[in-house]
Amino acid sequence: MDFLFPPETEALRLEIRTFLEQELPDDWGGIGTLQGAEYTDFVASWRHKLYEGGWLATSWPTEYGGAGLSEVDHLVVAEELTKAGVPLGSPNDVFGISMLGNTLLQFGTESQKHHFLPRILSGEYRFCQGYSEPNAGSDLARVGTRAVRDGDEWIIDGQKIWTSAGHLANWIFLLCRTDPDAPLHKGISFLLCPMDQPGVEVRPIEMLSGTSEFNEVFFDGARAATDHLVGSEHDGWRVAMGLLGYERGKAAGLLPISFRAELDRLVDLAKETDKARDPVIRDRLARAYAEVEVMRFRGYDVVTRFVNGELPSAGAATTKLYWSEYHLRTTELAMDILGVSGLVRSGRSPMTAFQTDDPGAPNSTASWQRTFLTARAGTIYAGTSEIQRNIIGEILLGLPKEPRVR
Ligand SMILES: Cc1cc2nc3c(=O)[nH]c(=O)nc-3n(C[C@H](O)[C@H](O)[C@H](O)COP(=O)(O)OP(=O)(O)OC[C@H]3O[C@@H](n4cnc5c(N)ncnc54)[C@H](O)[C@@H]3O)c2cc1C
Repeated sequence: MDFLFPPETEALRLEIRTFLEQELPDDWGGIGTLQGAEYTDFVASWRHKLYEGGWLATSWPTEYGGAGLSEVDHLVVAEELTKAGVPLGSPNDVFGISMLGNTLLQFGTESQKHHFLPRILSGEYRFCQGYSEPNAGSDLARVGTRAVRDGDEWIIDGQKIWTSAGHLANWIFLLCRTDPDAPLHKGISFLLCPMDQPGVEVRPIEMLSGTSEFNEVFFDGARAATDHLVGSEHDGWRVAMGLLGYERGKAAGLLPISFRAELDRLVDLAKETDKARDPVIRDRLARAYAEVEVMRFRGYDVVTRFVNGELPSAGAATTKLYWSEYHLRTTELAMDILGVSGLVRSGRSPMTAFQTDDPGAPNSTASWQRTFLTARAGTIYAGTSEIQRNIIGEILLGLPKEPRVR
């Protein structure tokens, strides 16, 4: 097996390194060193630079604003950006680029691709994800938000919950029930809806940490154009599952890069605290190292499959389960390395600990505490670990299905 990248991809690596050298200050220590307004200003201006340089969605076709490169090229760009300690985009890009953009490439009409993809890249359209509802989480097919056709518009009524970055978004992609008489999975449609209208209200959910990164979104007669239905009417479940494949599978290539940076920081922490001599800690660190390597090669496998035209499938559940459970164990290890001092919150607090603290973050107890706590969320969003195990059991292994509540 050959893990070397093709020469043209290595040439691209040099190109992105030159871009980074030109654009970053000489004393740059990574986005993880910044806080407050300095942090948010940097993310916004850096995203603009990535957009101008054509580095945001390198694998999208050029006619929609991408660079027309391969998924492997995209991975190398992400690798270099992470190593340089800069973000890959803004918080809404996870939803707009990684999830919806790729889904539109697969399921969207030509006019939807031409309309939405360039605007997502420019930052004019900032998306969030409207899947979960108070009565529909793991059992997503129970979504009850209604959409009814009225001429050339849909009228939407209902509620979404846990909408990450909804307060920063101006568009939402959402699952709506369009045929209440059809079996659960067959009466759902996938709509794109502007949020800047009277029928949409966003209410932040304050977390125990005092911050609020997600929201409730209420729809009261909100309107979406009929042209903004993705896939066929009542066939939104297929589109929704396609998007989840991107949400779960795309992480395969990118996460090992940031987890490796995080593990290096953890090894430094073990050395600094003199825990690196403890045989049990050493054993757990070695296990973490092996797991990140497994993730890295699994990532190459997933990316190579994308390049060969294979679309994400139930196999994405293995990726999601593996990385989120890895991160639970590794952040627990961090807390064990810190010992009682981990109970005191000191040093720089992460601006976000979505998946891990930012590259370049110092080894503070505040950083590890927050990363430890948010690692728990990783086993919930994009489908809980129990649901991933059900998918693996039922779809990949063909085991008898779990009893379902009707
Ligand atoms: C940080 C964070 C960000 C999120 N962001 C978004 C977002 O942007 N947009 C969005 O739409 N949603 C988002 N979510 C919601 C997320 O998708 C749901 O929380 C998740 O799907 C679980 O649904 P639930 O919370 O309703 O839990 P439930 O479905 O009520 O599950 C409760 C428990 O029961 C278990 N369980 C349920 N069914 C089964 C079963 N059949 N077999 C075995 N165990 C089962 C679950 O594993 C879980 O442990 C986010 C969640 C978090 C934590």
